[in-house]
Amino acid sequence: MTQLMPFRDPKVAQNIADKIREVAPKKGQVKISHVCGTHEWTITHFGLRSLLPENVEVIAGPGCPVCIVPAVEIDQAVWLAQKGKVITCFGDLLRVPGSVSSLLEAKALGADVRIVYALSDAVEMARKERDKEFVFHAVGFETTAPITAIEALNNLPLNFSFLVSHRLIPPAMELLLGVEGLQIDGFIAPGHVSAIIGLKPYELFTKVYRMPTVIAGFEPNDVLMAIYLLLKQYSTSDAKLENEYLRVVKPEGNKKALEAMRKAFTVTAGNWRGIGSLDNSTLNLKDSLSEYDARKKYDVKLTEGKDIQKGCHCNYVIVGKIKPNQCPMFLKSCTPEKPVGACMVSSEGTCRVWAKNSS
Ligand code: SF4
Repeated sequence: MTQLMPFRDPKVAQNIADKIREVAPKKGQVKISHVCGTHEWTITHFGLRSLLPENVEVIAGPGCPVCIVPAVEIDQAVWLAQKGKVITCFGDLLRVPGSVSSLLEAKALGADVRIVYALSDAVEMARKERDKEFVFHAVGFETTAPITAIEALNNLPLNFSFLVSHRLIPPAMELLLGVEGLQIDGFIAPGHVSAIIGLKPYELFTKVYRMPTVIAGFEPNDVLMAIYLLLKQYSTSDAKLENEYLRVVKPEGNKKALEAMRKAFTVTAGNWRGIGSLDNSTLNLKDSLSEYDARKKYDVKLTEGKDIQKGCHCNYVIVGKIKPNQCPMFLKSCTPEKPVGACMVSSEGTCRVWAKNSS
């Protein structure tokens, strides 16, 4: 008989669900937000919402790194591709809409756009094809930013540069606390980001905002346990940081990764698709690495784009104000096969997760 991991054991899940019911308030709504596409996948795929009392809601915040890349940064990649640069990126970026075109559409018109499975593959291509100029569109939160940083500090070939679209998670969590009508009662913090940044950045939420926060892993029982711990804090009006993902997340985070990020990047304000500008949320290569910064190297001038296409509600989905099925286009004119908005493109996008798990 197949041995189930305890993190996926349905009996363990039911026990935690029973505990959740015991500790959940008997009246009034409780709203818990996560900020992670993988958490949304776990919650939706394993039907965890169906195990919760009706008055406990779990919403998805801006946790899909591809969805929140503003259209103008896709436009910049398309512009570079049209200027003859070889654009390299991970596959889920290819169909993300820019203001008028995606990278996939640019590729269909003849641009050299290549999917890679690792940043090192793109660097290797640049080393082998010295007569071409390569740009890697670097997207992601604190989980992937260290890889960009380490490569940028590592004697890259001069025909290689980055279009950096990295963003940081804590500013997005702080944004959610100010969204009108959202009223969040607790955060599930993303385990993989926390493995890099450690515990300290979350003190803002517990100490300043008095918001219960639990770092969680990605198995269904990790997420259920995080919900239980949050509700327990809620029941005693506590606001502390708890680390459910002890097997991976250390209090100090990953010192080497943080050091590489500190050496390679400056932190500035930057735009998020459908959200606008967030202070201290965006990574840019330091001036000392400007030869690897595609925006500076190729004098990219585009600064404005159109984030949300007509009828798309991604701006509301991204902050958890509506559920995907409340968008009139969901699974009608917007599908995983023919996405309209960014949230339907990546496997971490909330609309795509819901679409793939609806039947
Ligand atoms: S269903 Fe499509 S159009 Fe609607 S919010 Fe989601 S991605 Fe945007």
